Amino acid sequence: MNIELSVVIPVYNEEPGLAALFARLYPALDALRIPYEVVFVNDGSRDGSAAMLREQFQRRPDVTRVILFNGNFGQHMAIMAGFEQVRGRRIVTLDADLQNPPEEIGRLIAKMDEGYDYVGSIRRMRRDSAFRRIAGRAMNLVRERITRIRMTDQGCMLRAYSREIVDAINSCREISTYIPALAYTFAQRPVEIEVEHEERAAGESKYSLYQLIRLNFDLVTAFSLVPLQMFSLAGMLISLVSILFVIYLAVRRLLLGPEAEGLFTLFGIVFFLLGIALFGIGLLGEYLGRIAQQVRQRPRYLIQAVLEAEAGPEPKGEAARGVAGS
Ligand code: UDP
Ligand code: MG
Repeated sequence: MNIELSVVIPVYNEEPGLAALFARLYPALDALRIPYEVVFVNDGSRDGSAAMLREQFQRRPDVTRVILFNGNFGQHMAIMAGFEQVRGRRIVTLDADLQNPPEEIGRLIAKMDEGYDYVGSIRRMRRDSAFRRIAGRAMNLVRERITRIRMTDQGCMLRAYSREIVDAINSCREISTYIPALAYTFAQRPVEIEVEHEERAAGESKYSLYQLIRLNFDLVTAFSLVPLQMFSLAGMLISLVSILFVIYLAVRRLLLGPEAEGLFTLFGIVFFLLGIALFGIGLLGEYLGRIAQQVRQRPRYLIQAVLEAEAGPEPKGEAARGVAGS
């Protein structure tokens, strides 16, 4: 049977909300009346999530598959692992926390029927803290400026992708990435629709402020060299100007003799240059760190087990290499 729709759901410590998710997700998908599968990826949860996913697999083995990571590799790696296993013609990603209602999946699919290969989403009335809304908007602005990626709402994970896009994503081996943005770079006819957004049904956000900042660095450095280029250009310009200034000071000293005044101006300039240098070193570090990770070629995630009805192919590439390589 050809599967029309695969839904990929990363799960990390979502025990309190999973029952509600199952109760709404499956009826919503059944109502679509197309062959579908749900691929849950347990991202090393430390609570009872894995056990609940096992139970759900036993309840609906025909349409459920579960990938169990043996550690916490992050939301985007979980989605990547899901993508490598999906069999559907269209793939939808959804968060486990019910912030995006599963009932909206039908609308995404309907939009794809119109011929789009990437359906993004914009959260109508976003229900998150004011800080996250404002920070999100600011980050959007920066991203629009320095990358080619045009997304109104980068944070919303309820999105639909065509098989071709997911295959393209699967052929990428990058470690720090941001799936909606990566997918966008492969899309030929992207479109966005508005979707509902609700408060988290249960449990709490898995992202601390620190992790959100890291994620946004991924988003920028994975898709743009502009920060690096801006820095090197500005650095060159400023060093040129300061050379001129030093020459001016030297000439002035020869002609007028030494002077103690103006010392603090000099300090000012030195600190300014130091600041730029430190900022730039930090920026270089961001890129270098990612290069270092990439050249290590470690498996991006390790799969402990895959629960599925008929014996599918061996857990692909990553896991096998993980055992052999490390
Ligand atoms: N998640 C994950 N691994 C992580 C962090 C989060 O698989 O390390 C999953 C989480 O279970 C949820 C989704 O990613 O399904 C989004 O997380 P969350 O709702 O906490 O993010 P927020 O809505 O606060 O941005
Ligand atoms: Mg959420």
